Amino acid sequence: MLKFFINSKDNKARAGYFETEHGIVETPVFMPVGTQGTVKAVNQKHLEEIKAQIVLSNTYHLYLRPGTEVLEKAGGLHKFMSWQKPILTDSGGFQVFSLSDLRKLKPDGVEFKSHLDGSSHFFSPEKVVGIQRSIGSDIMMVLDECTPYPCEYDYALNSAKLTSNWAEMSKEAFEKSGPLYGHKQFMFGIIQGSIYKDLREFSAKDITNIDFDGYAIGGLAVGEPVDVMYDIVDFTTSLMPEDKPRYLMGVGRPENLLEAIERGVDMFDCVMPTRNGRNAYLFTSNGILSMRNAKYKDDFSTIDENCDCYTCKNFSKAYLRHLFIAKEILALELASIHNLNFYLSLIRTAREKIIEGSFSQWKKEILKNITLNNITTEV
Ligand SMILES: [Zn+2]
Repeated sequence: MLKFFINSKDNKARAGYFETEHGIVETPVFMPVGTQGTVKAVNQKHLEEIKAQIVLSNTYHLYLRPGTEVLEKAGGLHKFMSWQKPILTDSGGFQVFSLSDLRKLKPDGVEFKSHLDGSSHFFSPEKVVGIQRSIGSDIMMVLDECTPYPCEYDYALNSAKLTSNWAEMSKEAFEKSGPLYGHKQFMFGIIQGSIYKDLREFSAKDITNIDFDGYAIGGLAVGEPVDVMYDIVDFTTSLMPEDKPRYLMGVGRPENLLEAIERGVDMFDCVMPTRNGRNAYLFTSNGILSMRNAKYKDDFSTIDENCDCYTCKNFSKAYLRHLFIAKEILALELASIHNLNFYLSLIRTAREKIIEGSFSQWKKEILKNITLNNITTEV
């Protein structure tokens, strides 16, 4: 079992850590997204410099390309991508339902066509465990069905039942198989149930009964109003065991992370910092900057005076704007490094404030500044 310790609590917010054989992860934690075994436009050296503790990769994408044969020959994803810290892999359920064509749900898995070449594939809970053994991620996720929004009650009910069955099949496959590369792997279950509280309760009961190393809240941040998301997060964390990490999948904007931390969530992943960075939107302690804006043409000030990242230490707004306007690829790298550092240092500070017992007060103050100009970003 994964060892998870809570250092401090500030109301529902928790500061803790868990141990993997690739290192300790302090929570709350934000995991940069490296879908294809790379955090887009950011190399591993910079990930270490901004103190990324764990990265997320994706089973669906790695299975299609480069494939498990290459991953096994490479000795697993850690060696393949030269990243010796922890890796969490999403099961691919979300991608099967969002990216692939012609998917067919069956009680024992899902048939789908690759978004790359149209080839047919079948993911069962057992197969997805096997792929994650080939990847060698420290934390694997079970195969689940991520419901869309809006979602009819009956559909959400049947989907939650299917997710429960798949979770049991995943746990069985996990126990029957072993790691391929000598380090321990852990497995998290996923609680579904869309926006219906009784279904969240049903799913939480089923999934936590199976006894996983940690639990995720899935099926949120798929288009529902933000107040509904906060309400479901608050409700669902109250149903989750205290002594296991809680992971809110695919969330979100900086303010969403802080609100969810306040409601008892420990782990996050989202493409927002890197995707918005590549689109020239920079998160700063003074709100969001659109780096293509003409007003930065001869603004030689630093991007964020409160940021200590490589980008802010070395380059001006004018230079970054020039790179974006000239379509130079360095723009993507510098913006992504800065945005990830913004997220990571925000969550590190949140952790310190939980330990100090001043999280809610700090959150109120910081939100006033970092949410300025929010309208300009995209998920
Ligand atoms: Zn910076």
